[in-house]
Amino acid sequence: MSKSKTLGVLGNGQLGRMFAQAAQDLGFAVVVFDPEAQKAGALSPAAQVSDAFINADFSDTAALQSLADRCAAVTTEFENVSADALAYLAKPSSAVLVAPKADAVRIAQNRVLEKNHFVGCGVPIAPYVVVDSQQQLGSVPDHFYPAILKTARMGYDGKGQVTVNNADELRAAWLGLSRAACVLEQRLALASECSVLLARQVGTNGKAHMIHWPVQRNVHVHGILATTEVTCSPSASQALLDVALTSAAQKIATDLNYVGVLCVEFFILADGSWVVNEIAPRPHNSGHITMNASSLSQFEAQVRVLAGLPLVQPRQHSCGVMLNVLGDVWFDDASSQADEQPREPDWARVLALGTADVGVHVHLYGKTEARRARKMGHINVTAQTLAVARDVAAHIQKELGSVPN
Ligand code: ADP
Ligand code: MG
Repeated sequence: MSKSKTLGVLGNGQLGRMFAQAAQDLGFAVVVFDPEAQKAGALSPAAQVSDAFINADFSDTAALQSLADRCAAVTTEFENVSADALAYLAKPSSAVLVAPKADAVRIAQNRVLEKNHFVGCGVPIAPYVVVDSQQQLGSVPDHFYPAILKTARMGYDGKGQVTVNNADELRAAWLGLSRAACVLEQRLALASECSVLLARQVGTNGKAHMIHWPVQRNVHVHGILATTEVTCSPSASQALLDVALTSAAQKIATDLNYVGVLCVEFFILADGSWVVNEIAPRPHNSGHITMNASSLSQFEAQVRVLAGLPLVQPRQHSCGVMLNVLGDVWFDDASSQADEQPREPDWARVLALGTADVGVHVHLYGKTEARRARKMGHINVTAQTLAVARDVAAHIQKELGSVPN
């Protein structure tokens, strides 16, 4: 394939897989770059569907150069990608469009820089303090607790987070996190969690264009996203909130001069007020419903940004519920023996729950080994009303034996 018809992706997981599939739908070849694109002879979820893969470290500049030589544009699919690798690929002599840009990724990867950015945007956030030295531990006032200590870097799916109720617990938690730079956030009483997905493109004339999807409503269990819901007919009060969240997300993207698909997570509090939680500089788990409920999926949007193709505001044609399928449903129950053999769910029974009015879309990531808490796939349920989609989603959860929320 020619350079102009080839896109690259750093990372080897399911987000890279779905990006590659969307790119191939538009006639592009995809090169996956990851140190574990192939591991112990097995291909990763993204490498399985790629046209080629490069099994190399993100610091291997010769390998990065060969990716740059083959691709018109390169993106990334995981949270903790090397920003230096992105910066290397973006050097002008390579003639590669890199999105998201290294600067935006650096900010999203560091909760301290991320909070600074939010403050600069003037969007509301949870009260927080930076903790990176022993002295700061004692200076947190009592009324700040309960709080959540989060490592500034390398957190995802609730990892690197500890809830603390007083100064002693804070000290112990910080030492337990190896004295890493952290933010201490006040723990808020959340009424719900939402996210806004948007895509931003900058044309050759320097003009920016942004599209967005409707607000997604997310439920997390044990720090991992469990379900996402989206409606095509929000109530008046919900619509008002959605406008506010969307414009905050757009402000965050614009002030970053962001290019690509961006996810902004929000907390909604009991009194109806809201704060920005964090950003993910890529397609996001909470955007998977766009694959079946919208005229444009988040993955195709990323492809269009990279390829310089038109980004058209998507039409939400269905209400939807996305169920994450974790490896847990391969096992009988939480109390089972450690040596229990995993058993793949009966997808035929799940698919049989679809009807002429309700779409049931199973997306599996090609992971051969099921483990508890491992994301194995997701199921999108689409219908004309959210109530109908919820009903079928509940039946699917029952069929899978996953915990209803
Ligand atoms: P991750 O990078 O792991 O997604 P988050 O900061 O989004 O980290 O935290 C994961 C989850 O933990 C959130 O979705 C939310 O349910 C809960 N959480 C995080 N921060 C707070 C907070 N300040 N108050 C209440 N709950 C929180
Ligand atoms: Mg999060």
